[in-house]
Amino acid sequence: MPEGIKLGVLALTCVAASCAALMPSAALARKPQPSAPTHELRCLFNDSHFHLTNYVQQGTDMGKYVDEIMGDKVCRSTVFGIPLQQTWSYGNSGDFAPTYYLQSDAPLYYYSFTDAYIASAYLKLRPDQRRRLDPMITGFNPADMYAVDHIRRVLETYPGVFTGIGEFTIHKEFVSSKVAGEIASLTDPALDRILDFAGEVGLAVILHSDIDMPFAKAGAEPVFLQQMKDLLRRHPQTMIIWAHIGLGRVVHPVQGQATADTAERNPAYRDLVEAMITDPTLSHVYFDISWDEVAKYAVSSPGSIENTAAMLNKYPERFLFGTDNVAPKDQATQLRVFNMWDPIWAKLTPEASLKVRTGNYARIFDAASARVRAWEAKNVK
Ligand SMILES: [Zn+2]
Repeated sequence: MPEGIKLGVLALTCVAASCAALMPSAALARKPQPSAPTHELRCLFNDSHFHLTNYVQQGTDMGKYVDEIMGDKVCRSTVFGIPLQQTWSYGNSGDFAPTYYLQSDAPLYYYSFTDAYIASAYLKLRPDQRRRLDPMITGFNPADMYAVDHIRRVLETYPGVFTGIGEFTIHKEFVSSKVAGEIASLTDPALDRILDFAGEVGLAVILHSDIDMPFAKAGAEPVFLQQMKDLLRRHPQTMIIWAHIGLGRVVHPVQGQATADTAERNPAYRDLVEAMITDPTLSHVYFDISWDEVAKYAVSSPGSIENTAAMLNKYPERFLFGTDNVAPKDQATQLRVFNMWDPIWAKLTPEASLKVRTGNYARIFDAASARVRAWEAKNVK
């Protein structure tokens, strides 16, 4: 990790409302002493995208996650499971118990108990551990008009716990087509109901939807881009984080190349994202750069490093770092994705680096949490 981003200055970067939550528990327990060791105030990032459990609902103990895996390196973190459960079909894989969606042909199904599991684990934590987490509701089917009722019920059952909804998924390579039942769509009114309700309550939204089909041809307009923009524009009151900027394992960034049959050049991915950032009808949209697959694209060449760093320096308030780790076993695993970004961190201004790593998280999730608590105070009896 470059020396320049080692954080001795975190305390200076948080606004008053979010400072307490950014500080490790030791610092919260007493008034900060001028002579307090500075390591208490250091952290590398806040994790805007973190799965505690995997596709078979197994994972890391939440207390261990805070104390040992976040430790003094990650100040704050979202925390959610995965709404989809991989079926273990004996007819398909026999004695082999799949734990990942690529390990079986059997379907995935929505496992709503994930929200109760996350809430009850959260409620068992010490207050200083809770202050560092933002639990998210994920256990709903976005193709179901009743999904919004699930979200409301979770808030009513566990007031004081959740900050947002997501990561939930509309289009995802290899996954969407395995989900049992109705196929999710960006044009489904069920999704509009969910985003309307999130806007009303103040829930932050982490939405995964690939921008394109897998293995798309260079030069073609990403197939889901227009639908995505239309959806986002229908919900200007909702704070939406677009997970992975729409990228995936085989959903590559668009290349700025002409196709054989058209003279028109499509804008490169950078231009496409920049057009969204500068569009005033999309000012409520943020971009999460989580997942090692995204990091791979970002650091794939000197040109890509340069372009990505330039984008983050130009619009630092619109991007959030996250790991997208799933049930990590130790801190080294948790930090691996962060370290993949080292060549880019080294090129960011101190201001941009702080916003992307910690500041935007604090601003967005603190605002969401305050609004959700206010909604609960009014609506949960
Ligand atoms: Zn994820």
